[in-house]
Amino acid sequence: MDAAFCAAWLEAAALAVAADRERLTDLDAAIGDADHGANLDRGFSEVRQALAAGGPGQPLAVAGVTLIRKVGGASGPLYGSLLRAMGKALGESFTLAGFAAAFQAGVDEVARLGKAVEGDKTMLDALGPAARAVAGAVRDGAEPRAAFERAAEAAREGALATVPLVARKGRASYLGERSAGHEDPGAASSALIVGALVTADG
Ligand code: ADP
Ligand code: MG
Ligand code: MG
Repeated sequence: MDAAFCAAWLEAAALAVAADRERLTDLDAAIGDADHGANLDRGFSEVRQALAAGGPGQPLAVAGVTLIRKVGGASGPLYGSLLRAMGKALGESFTLAGFAAAFQAGVDEVARLGKAVEGDKTMLDALGPAARAVAGAVRDGAEPRAAFERAAEAAREGALATVPLVARKGRASYLGERSAGHEDPGAASSALIVGALVTADG
């Protein structure tokens, strides 16, 4: 696995976000400010342009900086930091075990920056289980494809499990108990982005 895989992942994530832009915005309309789909679609479009421009640097690091710079709202800096931390940990060529460790480092960075833990009804509720699924697949000696499928499944389940939760971070937390009964938009987009690993593995 190498930088080309990372670029393919980002491309697949951009397409998935664009395809589900309306759904993400509808989820954010219910418990936030109805901009999550637009925020991420714009951000990942900028990422595609930055990668197409072919500048130097690990694709994940380039994408991370782009999201931090171009996306207003909570999700830009958080996803940007996830990818930047992953890129920093990965370098140019890496194994699945290296990817698993970098993914966990990225998730830890999101938690640190957002001062959030799993159960707060955020993107971490999808990202945390996904990172553990990849690590578990590495321990089982799984191929990348199987590891990514397990991660995608864990992220989808984690996102759906946010429905009954009361939000403790981000805009949705302003609603208190009324935030329960809706899927967290950031957890939903995380499930898309993790799911794009399967697409990227081709
Ligand atoms: P904004 O809320 O600023 O409009 P977005 O709508 O793009 O930003 O993103 C909202 C998502 O960001 C939430 O659904 C949640 O998953 C995530 N989020 C918000 N605050 C935090 C935080 N402190 N830690 C982790 N994730 C967060
Ligand atoms: Mg929003
Ligand atoms: Mg906003």
